[in-house]
Amino acid sequence: MNKIVVLGGGESGAGAAVLAQVKGYNVFLSDAGMLKDPFRRMLQQYHIAFEEGKHTEGLILDADEVIKSPGIPDKAPIIQKLSAKGVPVISEIEFAGRYCKARKICITGSNGKTTTASIIYFLLKKAGLNVGLAGNIGHSYAYQVATARRDYYVIELSSFQLEGMFDFKADIAVLLNITPDHLDRYDYNMENYVRAKFRITQNMSKEDCFIFCSDDEVTMSHLNQIVLKAQLLPLSQTEKVNRGAYAIDEYMHAQYEEDEFSMMIEELALQGKHNIYNSMAAAVAGQVLNVRNEVIRDSLATFRGVEHRLEPVLKVRDVLYINDSKATNVNSAWYALESMKTKVIWIAGGTDKGNDYTDLYELAAQKVKALICLGVDNEKLHKNFEGKAPAIYDVRSMNDAVKMAYKLAEPGDTVLLSPACASFDLFKNFEDRGQQFKEAVRNL
Ligand code: ADP
Repeated sequence: MNKIVVLGGGESGAGAAVLAQVKGYNVFLSDAGMLKDPFRRMLQQYHIAFEEGKHTEGLILDADEVIKSPGIPDKAPIIQKLSAKGVPVISEIEFAGRYCKARKICITGSNGKTTTASIIYFLLKKAGLNVGLAGNIGHSYAYQVATARRDYYVIELSSFQLEGMFDFKADIAVLLNITPDHLDRYDYNMENYVRAKFRITQNMSKEDCFIFCSDDEVTMSHLNQIVLKAQLLPLSQTEKVNRGAYAIDEYMHAQYEEDEFSMMIEELALQGKHNIYNSMAAAVAGQVLNVRNEVIRDSLATFRGVEHRLEPVLKVRDVLYINDSKATNVNSAWYALESMKTKVIWIAGGTDKGNDYTDLYELAAQKVKALICLGVDNEKLHKNFEGKAPAIYDVRSMNDAVKMAYKLAEPGDTVLLSPACASFDLFKNFEDRGQQFKEAVRNL
């Protein structure tokens, strides 16, 4: 019996272990940290051997194949040893793909993955299809493949997951955009990051569809260097396209084969330039899957957004508070500021991942009344925005940030939490940061 070792026992690792067990492999899971209770219970329930708080090298190196959680970098010593020994290391998605005949709609990009995957899932459900949502969202793909039967999967893929994918094939691949993020994991080499993202197109044939943003220079320059068999379906907000989708003036249009769809941008539930790309991607994916135009229109008009992504929280004294805690990089903060129609009290800062703030200068000068820096080290924000934002303040807790914003805001303004940074200096994660923001706003 083949030996499979799963490294990492979070959502993706525990799910992969369950699938491997169900498929009759000899499975062992190893996590260098401690497991969360639900995952430990899941492993026990399926009688899967595991260890936590350590990696027993002998057991791991003995594997025929290793399934690695996306959080473990290739540089980790145990991965290096596995490569040296020639043991194949794959991702949970690659493994689960072997056992899944459902049609797969896969979404990647630097920003907008969760939003777009959620819209497409919502749309396919509304169309009455038997569909699962997986990848970085909800239950792991492998766990669902082990325990459910579905005809379609919408799968959100990070570049880390894509790196461990080889034979997996998407039926529809969506690549939203490519901007520098996580470059620390790619030796600060943008080309490596771009190549990882483009793995979403590997193995595609001419029946498959590749939806991408033709306004994105990085995507286009790479696309021009490679040969893809898949049907190319671009999204643009700058020029008309014959197939794919475009938005110019008040309307968005989508076209796939004979099928034409159009809708007023004003009617889209998610507003802002970035969300127009996300909605267009969903419309085209819907068309490819033969979803009726009425269902596409209704879905795009009624989708309720995803928590922590430009999420309106409350209006207090005619000031709207928006939680965009998920904006952990400069590009997503750019889109957030760009979509603001009023003056903004901007709460930003946190753990800087090598940010270049230049792209935000103009928007900050135009829209930001005050910048509230919420981080342990705010020096870089000061250096970048002094002279651009009329006033800059420092705080060390979410409560203080919200209280300060309350003092500074005037009726008609917006208070925007869109940090452009990771959250780990002061919060557990971006969800925790967003929750604390919402709570502080509700307590005003
Ligand atoms: P991801 O899953 O890729 O991290 P999310 O949908 O969670 O993306 O959104 C992350 C952040 O990026 C949010 O702040 C959101 O406002 C912003 N965003 C969403 N869609 C896009 C897009 N197409 N381009 C740029 N930024 C976007």
